[in-house]
Formats: sequence, C-alpha cells, structure tokens
Amino acid sequence: MARKILTYPNRILMQKARPVDTINSFIHDLSRDMARLMYENRGIGLAAPQVGESLRLVTVDLSGPDNREELVTYVNPEIIWSEGEISTEEGCLSVKGYQSKVTRAEKIMIRALDLEGRQVEQEGQGLWSVCLQHEIDHLNGVLFIDHISRLKRAIYDKKLSKWLAREKE
Ligand SMILES: [Zn+2]
Repeated sequence: MARKILTYPNRILMQKARPVDTINSFIHDLSRDMARLMYENRGIGLAAPQVGESLRLVTVDLSGPDNREELVTYVNPEIIWSEGEISTEEGCLSVKGYQSKVTRAEKIMIRALDLEGRQVEQEGQGLWSVCLQHEIDHLNGVLFIDHISRLKRAIYDKKLSKWLAREKE
C-alpha cells in the first residue's frame, strides 16, 4: 500500500509513537518513503507518524526539495539538552492551510541512532533546532498547533471543520 501524508485531525498524529527496536529492511524502506514524500510535498522534515507509522523515526533535509543534499534520518531521537528561546513561523505538512509563530528552544542537542544503528549526538541552533523539535514533537503526538494560544487554536479548528464539512458534501 502506498503511503501518504496524514493530516490533522487523524488520530495517529495524536499518539505517542513507539521506539524502533530493530533497524531492518522495513525501517530502511520506511525512511526512503518518508524522504520521497517529504521532497514531493516540499517539506524539510517529516516524522513517521505523519505517514501512518507510529514509530520514532524522522527525516530532515534543511537544504530543501530543490537541493536534496543534506538528508539525515534519525532513529529514536531524543533531546538531551536545550537552551534559549526562539520564535519562528511554522507550518506542517499534516496541518493544512495554517502557519503560526511558535516559541521553542533556540539551541538543542539530540541523541539518536543512524540507519546503521550507530549512536549519534548532534548539537545545533536556529532552523535545525526548530525543525528537530517540531519533528520530535510529532513522535510524542504533539502538533505545532498545540503550542499556539487557545484562541488561535479555536479559530483554526473552526475553519478546519468548515473545510471538512465542505469536502463531505
Ligand atoms: Zn509537522
């Protein structure tokens, strides 16, 4: 079955994903599929739950779909350290028609496995840091719209239910 990007309010997006225990051919195929869908939809990051697999796996390529030069896959990533504050405009391939400013840590360090099962630790700031926090949130069933004010969220939810009602007609 061909995977596709799920959108809010799909329940899988709200679940805590389980750790990857074996990096086998399923995981390699999944990560290739995620990279393909990320590029096709012009994203810079994607988490496995967004394609319907409730597993702790993310792909990131900050060079974007036009360059495709910095693809990295993180297995079971966790934030082990964070510092500062940064506020940037975020959007999400799983949240249609919406962008909003979100405040996150400016600098983080993560620990993860690569696709060969080696442990990696990486520290970064700015866009990389924001992107990784956004993707790791997905693994915990959290969307960027969970970080905005209740009022903004209520307005978005109302707009979305109108769109969904129209799609059903
Ligand atoms: Zn997202």
